[in-house]
Amino acid sequence: MENFLLKNIDNPNSADIAEYEQAGGYKNLSKALGIKPKDVLDEVKASGLRGRGGAGFPTGMKWTFATADPKFPKYLMCNADEGEPGTFKDRPILEKNPHLLIEGMAISGYALGAEYGHIYLRGEYPEAGDILNSAINQANEKNYLGENILGKGIKFKLSVHMGAGAYICGEETALIESIEGKKGQPRNKPPFPVNVGAWGMPTIVNNVETLSNVPYIIEIGGENYAKIGSSECPGPKLFSVSGCVNKPGVYELPMGTTLQDIIYNHAGGMRNGKKLKAVIPGGISTPVLPADAIDCAMDFVAMPKAGSMLGSGAVIVMDEDVCMVKVTYRALKFFEHESCGKCVPCREGTDWLRKILERIENGKGTQGDIELLSDVAGIMSGKTFCPLGDGAAGVVMGMIKHFRSEFEEHIKEGKCTF
Ligand code: SF4
Repeated sequence: MENFLLKNIDNPNSADIAEYEQAGGYKNLSKALGIKPKDVLDEVKASGLRGRGGAGFPTGMKWTFATADPKFPKYLMCNADEGEPGTFKDRPILEKNPHLLIEGMAISGYALGAEYGHIYLRGEYPEAGDILNSAINQANEKNYLGENILGKGIKFKLSVHMGAGAYICGEETALIESIEGKKGQPRNKPPFPVNVGAWGMPTIVNNVETLSNVPYIIEIGGENYAKIGSSECPGPKLFSVSGCVNKPGVYELPMGTTLQDIIYNHAGGMRNGKKLKAVIPGGISTPVLPADAIDCAMDFVAMPKAGSMLGSGAVIVMDEDVCMVKVTYRALKFFEHESCGKCVPCREGTDWLRKILERIENGKGTQGDIELLSDVAGIMSGKTFCPLGDGAAGVVMGMIKHFRSEFEEHIKEGKCTF
């Protein structure tokens, strides 16, 4: 499959509008504006595109909820708060192919009847902020954005909002709170943002990769797009591969490519000829899989059947020398630090889990600690206000399920055995 999302990123000037136009850029915006907004929406629905931020919700359906709401104005938010450990798949689009995202947002704004768009950008991506702002200025000058896009009387204004480094602002309602200038904490749902979002108005929050797929759908048509990759989760997918592989990086592959294929064919296999021990397939919030479970398709339907989730498609590869207790401890340090504190099961639970894991990793674990970890994680599961707490509990439960012996050994030996 030819790259679309990462097309031309090896060109050193790929972020410049002239280079983007030279490669056919903004033709899909022109094409989309030549048909009715409803027809653009129908193409997206026919494509079967699912949100690439982690939840995998059908994009066309989300858009339909928003367009069915008569309230105006509507807002289009791009979730570029790429903070999930292991995830760096959106970064090449933001830094190397910003006009693809801008074109995708302009087309999406037209389909949705949204005249204002905001890119909520991860605070740790300052270079991407400069590149995006410069690309937006170029697009404004060429009338691909602004009050009168391509002279067709269509308005779509776009701006960049820098986050301040809170992982929770990647959750769509916390993102909206933050963009409104409030403390970034999740809101109760329902009402959902598609009806009551930013400033109380219908708001569509889509991930960078999701919106960057829209020009491709317009280019080849929804039906043709639906033939790429998995039948239930079509399209190209970006996978960020890190850890103990020879060629870590971002790979654009058809959705449904197996983990085995990603690790051994695309990422060059295991580093230093070591044995594969485990893979976290979709970012740190997704449950770990042991080495014998990697012959599974990476999509939103197959991964839950294999015992994990696709998440953001951030594949973290661990070899035989990696201590799984340490990995779990580091993960919980992250979740404890990033818990926004709004709900008790997550605020207290992540703290408890981190403390227990810390003492096990430091050789001070006691009999009963594994049961205590399972107990606390079980109490948190399904009872937290947003998915952060569930993710933290799932990491612990997955690690104990597959690597219990390592936890037992740490407690028995009174030290880390790696
Ligand atoms: Fe905040 Fe954690 Fe509760 Fe989410 S689960 S609202 S991050 S305390």
